[in-house]
Amino acid sequence: MKQTLARLLARPLARAARQGLKLAGHGGTSLPGRIALAFDPAFIARARRFPRRVVVTGTNGKTSTVSLITLLLRSAGLSVVSNMEGANMRQGLAAALLAPPAEALVMEVDEFTLPETARALDPQLVVVTGLFRDQLDRYGEVAVVRDTLQRAIDTVPEATILLNGDDPLTASLRAARRRFFRLTQAALDVPGDCAGCPQCGAPLSYRSRTYAQLGEFECPACGFAAPEADARGVVLPEAFVFNGTALPPLPVHLHPYSVLASLAAVDALGLPARIAAWPAPILGRGGSVTMARRKVTVVLGKNPASVSWNLAQHPGDAHLFLVNNRAADGRDVSWLWDVNLAPVSRAVATGERALEMLTRLRYEPQIAQASAYPKPEEAFAAALRETPEGGHLVVVATYTQLPAALALTDTARRPTAVPAAVAPEAVAQPRAPLARRPHHVRIALLFPEQLGTYGDSGNAVVLQKRLQWRGIEASIDRIGLSDVLSADADILLLGGGEDRGQRLALASMRAMQPMLKAMAEDGVPALLVCGGLQPYGESLTLEGVEHEGLGILPIVTRPGKPRLVGKLCVNSPLVPHTLVGFENHGGHTTLLGGTRLGEVVSGNGNAATGSQGEGILLHRTIGTYLHGPVLARNPALADVMLGWVAERHGWGALDPLEDAMEARAARALCAG
Ligand code: GLN
Repeated sequence: MKQTLARLLARPLARAARQGLKLAGHGGTSLPGRIALAFDPAFIARARRFPRRVVVTGTNGKTSTVSLITLLLRSAGLSVVSNMEGANMRQGLAAALLAPPAEALVMEVDEFTLPETARALDPQLVVVTGLFRDQLDRYGEVAVVRDTLQRAIDTVPEATILLNGDDPLTASLRAARRRFFRLTQAALDVPGDCAGCPQCGAPLSYRSRTYAQLGEFECPACGFAAPEADARGVVLPEAFVFNGTALPPLPVHLHPYSVLASLAAVDALGLPARIAAWPAPILGRGGSVTMARRKVTVVLGKNPASVSWNLAQHPGDAHLFLVNNRAADGRDVSWLWDVNLAPVSRAVATGERALEMLTRLRYEPQIAQASAYPKPEEAFAAALRETPEGGHLVVVATYTQLPAALALTDTARRPTAVPAAVAPEAVAQPRAPLARRPHHVRIALLFPEQLGTYGDSGNAVVLQKRLQWRGIEASIDRIGLSDVLSADADILLLGGGEDRGQRLALASMRAMQPMLKAMAEDGVPALLVCGGLQPYGESLTLEGVEHEGLGILPIVTRPGKPRLVGKLCVNSPLVPHTLVGFENHGGHTTLLGGTRLGEVVSGNGNAATGSQGEGILLHRTIGTYLHGPVLARNPALADVMLGWVAERHGWGALDPLEDAMEARAARALCAG
């Protein structure tokens, strides 16, 4: 009786709370949803009052896909309820269900909320937009997200599952009723997030790519390939062609995959997938305003795929980056190193990780000078000054900086003139190359596609630049799984990655073992990060299976609990200051001999609570769990490695470089 009463009260009370909050000027809180769920824990099952139910999930593109499906269904004459503001966890879903019933319900659902809500929502159609690495420290590697979605899909066997057929990670999801959408468009240069075939783990081959890991893929080992399309989109300058019908051409703010997923969803529901005009962009999602005689566009940038795509769409004359690292952004912004920044030439940074962004910009060859400001208004003013009159400023904000970006471009506060200049917090000055020296350094970057999940490829760029700034030529050899490693490499670099990527790399490394061992013994400087370190030991466990390692370093790695994720600060005798960075690993490493790279100041390192110290140092081989651009965050460590190269060749001491800005960024990271 009591329970029935509570259930009856859930909706009116939650609605009253929402009304009250609105009147008090506090829209957009999670309280109404919380009240509904507190009074009726099964509140989400009220979704069944809606005759048509569509769920949209995936790491990228959920919000725009939901708003496009909503628009298409409304144009087909249906009344629709959706959670268009992107509140996609339980409370957000409950809040959306407070609306009066309509003919269709379209809900975006967070990937990790879907397993516990799919049955209650009981959708006829689940749309999976695509899977990209996103907030690795919060959600885990992309294979984990894929497995989570599989569990969710398994709970709704009656539903039709509409999948992105170009994405191997998504296309490999199993279901009784599947449909696929596929896209044809000119390729965009964005790093992919799929280490190997999701079915058998072998390297995939591509006939063509659209961007990242999406395209016409095929696994030569097991035959898993991009499926036959049930819905196809073709991006042409004059039209977006959907299933043979020409629709208006796509405006730059719309992602072709979101558009295609939406049209395919409506088509799968048996309704007409047609549109006369695409929706206008909204600010924060590619929309623009005019300020001080400049066009200003604001976009959300949350992971390498989304930022790279947005930059390609909005090249602009200048860029303002607002970068935070709060929980909703992901604490670790190493991923910035995998963004394709080629379209950026003038840049300003602000936000809690402004100096880290500035460090990234300093190593980007086409950027002459970049600056950082603590206050968003000052950074915005500086970015407007960087933009010529009549030009285009593109503002890229991480999730928790988006409100600040929108406030800056608020129409009420729109400046008519460019505000006065204030001194920046830091400037990444161009570094005039020092006198040329007749040397050439070969940097070998091993398996960047498999062991490059955490932004580690940035280390190669850092070493190369720091040599070039000293007048020394340097080249980066990217060694793929079936490439030959040249014996005259001066430096070896291996990064971190998922277990699957490690397994592929391990097979190739076995073939190279005698050479890798000889190089380590000869003192060729090497940096082995996390997933690249573990195979060098006696043994390691990957995807639950124990493997013999290369036996070059005296370490063993076993699966441990918990996964060690977060900030890592280490004191090492190699450098005068504390090394800073991030770790994210399930393997816990024990040293059987050798010397630790250092002692843990905060974080875990080799094993939980720092009990095993951090990393290993053997001759000139550095093994570490500090992932991402560890050499950019700790330039002194980069110079230790370069000093070793100089020493081996008898070049004498290297010229010092000025790294005050990086030192400040590092101190802030360790203190914060
Ligand atoms: N997959 C390995 C682990 O979980 C390595 C992870 C990494 O390189 N960050 O231990």
